[in-house]
Amino acid sequence: MSDQECAAQPHPLSTLYFYLTPECNLACRHCWISPKYKNAGVAGEYLPLDLFLSIIEQAAPLGLTTVKLTGGEPLLHPQFDEILEYMRKSDYRLTIETNGTLINGENAALIASCNRSFVSVSLDGIDPETHEWVRGVPGCFDASCRAVEVLGGGRAETAGDHECDAAQCRPG
Ligand code: SF4
Repeated sequence: MSDQECAAQPHPLSTLYFYLTPECNLACRHCWISPKYKNAGVAGEYLPLDLFLSIIEQAAPLGLTTVKLTGGEPLLHPQFDEILEYMRKSDYRLTIETNGTLINGENAALIASCNRSFVSVSLDGIDPETHEWVRGVPGCFDASCRAVEVLGGGRAETAGDHECDAAQCRPG
Protein backbone atom coordinates (compact mmCIF):
# COMPACT_ATOMS: atom_id res chain seq x y z
CA MET A 1 0.00 0.00 0.00
CA SER A 2 1.36 3.43 -0.92
CA ASP A 3 1.59 6.29 1.59
CA GLN A 4 -1.28 7.97 -0.30
CA GLU A 5 -3.48 4.89 -0.08
CA CYS A 6 -2.59 4.56 3.58
CA ALA A 7 -3.55 8.17 4.26
CA ALA A 8 -6.95 7.43 2.70
CA GLN A 9 -7.69 4.79 5.36
CA PRO A 10 -9.80 6.20 8.22
CA HIS A 11 -7.74 4.49 10.91
CA PRO A 12 -4.69 2.88 9.30
CA LEU A 13 -2.51 0.46 11.21
CA SER A 14 0.60 2.30 10.09
CA THR A 15 3.26 0.85 12.40
CA LEU A 16 3.94 -2.56 13.89
CA TYR A 17 6.33 -3.00 16.82
CA PHE A 18 7.95 -6.42 16.93
CA TYR A 19 9.50 -7.49 20.23
CA LEU A 20 11.62 -10.10 18.50
CA THR A 21 12.89 -11.76 21.68
CA PRO A 22 12.40 -11.44 25.44
CA GLU A 23 16.16 -11.92 25.95
CA CYS A 24 19.01 -9.42 26.08
CA ASN A 25 22.81 -9.41 26.40
CA LEU A 26 22.76 -6.38 28.70
CA ALA A 27 21.26 -5.98 32.16
CA CYS A 28 20.12 -2.37 32.42
CA ARG A 29 18.97 -1.04 35.77
CA HIS A 30 16.09 0.88 34.25
CA CYS A 31 14.76 -1.77 31.86
CA TRP A 32 11.00 -2.05 32.12
CA ILE A 33 10.97 -5.30 30.15
CA SER A 34 13.32 -7.12 32.55
CA PRO A 35 14.55 -9.46 29.82
CA LYS A 36 16.14 -12.81 30.45
CA TYR A 37 19.91 -12.26 30.39
CA LYS A 38 21.65 -13.90 27.44
CA ASN A 39 25.40 -13.66 27.63
CA ALA A 40 26.23 -14.32 23.99
CA GLY A 41 25.12 -16.07 20.85
CA VAL A 42 21.49 -16.19 19.87
CA ALA A 43 18.20 -16.01 21.73
CA GLY A 44 16.52 -19.21 22.87
CA GLU A 45 13.09 -17.58 22.79
CA TYR A 46 12.12 -15.54 19.78
CA LEU A 47 9.32 -14.72 17.36
CA PRO A 48 9.28 -17.40 14.64
CA LEU A 49 10.07 -16.03 11.20
CA ASP A 50 6.93 -17.45 9.61
CA LEU A 51 4.78 -15.76 12.27
CA PHE A 52 6.61 -12.46 11.69
CA LEU A 53 5.87 -12.72 7.96
CA SER A 54 2.27 -13.74 8.54
CA ILE A 55 1.64 -10.74 10.81
CA ILE A 56 3.03 -8.37 8.20
CA GLU A 57 0.91 -9.98 5.52
CA GLN A 58 -2.21 -9.48 7.64
CA ALA A 59 -1.26 -5.88 8.49
CA ALA A 60 -0.52 -4.85 4.90
CA PRO A 61 -4.17 -4.27 3.86
CA LEU A 62 -4.76 -2.31 7.08
CA GLY A 63 -2.30 0.41 6.05
CA LEU A 64 1.06 -0.79 7.28
CA THR A 65 3.95 1.50 6.31
CA THR A 66 6.53 1.02 9.07
CA VAL A 67 8.05 -1.96 10.86
CA LYS A 68 9.91 -1.45 14.12
CA LEU A 69 12.23 -4.16 15.47
CA THR A 70 12.99 -4.15 19.18
CA GLY A 71 13.23 -6.54 22.14
CA GLY A 72 15.01 -7.48 24.37
CA GLU A 73 17.90 -7.14 22.02
CA PRO A 74 16.50 -7.71 18.50
CA LEU A 75 19.86 -8.70 17.02
CA LEU A 76 19.86 -11.82 19.21
CA HIS A 77 17.12 -13.22 16.95
CA PRO A 78 18.72 -16.19 15.14
CA GLN A 79 17.11 -15.17 11.84
CA PHE A 80 17.72 -11.45 12.13
CA ASP A 81 19.57 -11.34 8.80
CA GLU A 82 16.65 -13.08 7.09
CA ILE A 83 14.29 -10.52 8.59
CA LEU A 84 16.54 -7.77 7.20
CA GLU A 85 16.56 -9.48 3.81
CA TYR A 86 12.76 -9.47 3.81
CA MET A 87 12.71 -5.81 4.83
CA ARG A 88 15.21 -4.94 2.11
CA LYS A 89 12.91 -6.36 -0.55
CA SER A 90 9.80 -4.70 0.87
CA ASP A 91 8.59 -1.09 0.68
CA TYR A 92 8.17 -0.74 4.43
CA ARG A 93 10.15 1.75 6.45
CA LEU A 94 12.43 0.04 8.95
CA THR A 95 13.21 1.21 12.47
CA ILE A 96 15.48 -0.72 14.83
CA GLU A 97 15.99 -0.12 18.54
CA THR A 98 19.18 -1.81 19.71
CA ASN A 99 21.89 -1.57 22.32
CA GLY A 100 24.31 -1.78 19.40
CA THR A 101 26.63 -4.40 20.84
CA LEU A 102 25.93 -6.94 18.06
CA ILE A 103 26.20 -4.54 15.14
CA ASN A 104 28.95 -5.43 12.69
CA GLY A 105 29.94 -4.45 9.18
CA GLU A 106 27.76 -7.10 7.57
CA ASN A 107 24.48 -6.45 9.34
CA ALA A 108 25.10 -2.67 9.19
CA ALA A 109 25.40 -2.90 5.41
CA LEU A 110 22.20 -4.92 5.22
CA ILE A 111 20.39 -2.40 7.40
CA ALA A 112 21.67 0.44 5.23
CA SER A 113 20.29 -1.30 2.14
CA CYS A 114 16.77 -1.42 3.61
CA ASN A 115 14.12 1.09 2.72
CA ARG A 116 14.43 4.35 4.69
CA SER A 117 16.06 2.58 7.61
CA PHE A 118 16.51 4.26 10.97
CA VAL A 119 18.51 2.85 13.89
CA SER A 120 18.41 4.03 17.48
CA VAL A 121 21.41 2.98 19.61
CA SER A 122 21.07 3.55 23.34
CA LEU A 123 23.83 5.35 25.27
CA ASP A 124 23.41 6.31 28.92
CA GLY A 125 26.60 8.19 29.64
CA ILE A 126 29.58 9.95 28.12
CA ASP A 127 32.10 7.37 29.35
CA PRO A 128 32.31 3.63 30.10
CA GLU A 129 31.96 4.18 33.85
CA THR A 130 28.54 5.81 33.71
CA HIS A 131 27.16 3.87 30.75
CA GLU A 132 28.21 0.47 32.09
CA TRP A 133 26.98 1.27 35.60
CA VAL A 134 23.54 1.66 34.05
CA ARG A 135 23.85 -1.16 31.51
CA GLY A 136 25.41 -3.79 33.77
CA VAL A 137 27.97 -5.31 31.37
CA PRO A 138 31.67 -4.33 31.10
CA GLY A 139 32.79 -3.35 27.63
CA CYS A 140 29.37 -2.42 26.31
CA PHE A 141 30.16 1.30 26.05
CA ASP A 142 32.87 0.77 23.44
CA ALA A 143 30.70 -1.76 21.60
CA SER A 144 27.78 0.65 21.39
CA CYS A 145 29.99 3.54 20.27
CA ARG A 146 31.50 1.29 17.60
CA ALA A 147 27.99 0.46 16.40
CA VAL A 148 27.14 4.12 15.91
CA GLU A 149 30.30 4.57 13.89
CA VAL A 150 29.81 1.43 11.79
CA LEU A 151 26.15 2.23 11.11
CA GLY A 152 27.07 5.72 9.99
CA GLY A 153 29.95 4.49 7.86
CA GLY A 154 32.22 6.62 10.04
CA ARG A 155 30.05 9.67 9.44
CA ALA A 156 27.55 9.17 12.28
CA GLU A 157 26.20 12.24 13.95
CA THR A 158 24.98 11.99 17.52
CA ALA A 159 22.14 13.99 18.87
CA GLY A 160 20.34 14.20 22.19
CA ASP A 161 16.98 12.49 22.04
CA HIS A 162 15.08 11.22 25.05
CA GLU A 163 16.30 9.61 28.23
CA CYS A 164 17.14 6.22 26.76
CA ASP A 165 18.22 6.83 23.17
CA ALA A 166 20.95 9.40 23.32
CA ALA A 167 22.78 8.45 20.16
CA GLN A 168 21.09 8.02 16.84
CA CYS A 169 22.28 7.18 13.42
CA ARG A 170 20.55 7.06 10.04
CA PRO A 171 22.21 4.57 7.72
CA GLY A 172 21.75 4.86 4.02
S1 SF4 B 1 19.52 -3.11 26.28
FE1 SF4 B 1 17.37 -2.52 26.18
S2 SF4 B 1 16.21 -4.46 26.38
FE2 SF4 B 1 18.35 -4.88 27.03
S3 SF4 B 1 18.27 -4.68 29.27
FE3 SF4 B 1 18.91 -2.68 28.38
S4 SF4 B 1 17.01 -1.47 28.13
FE4 SF4 B 1 16.43 -3.65 28.44
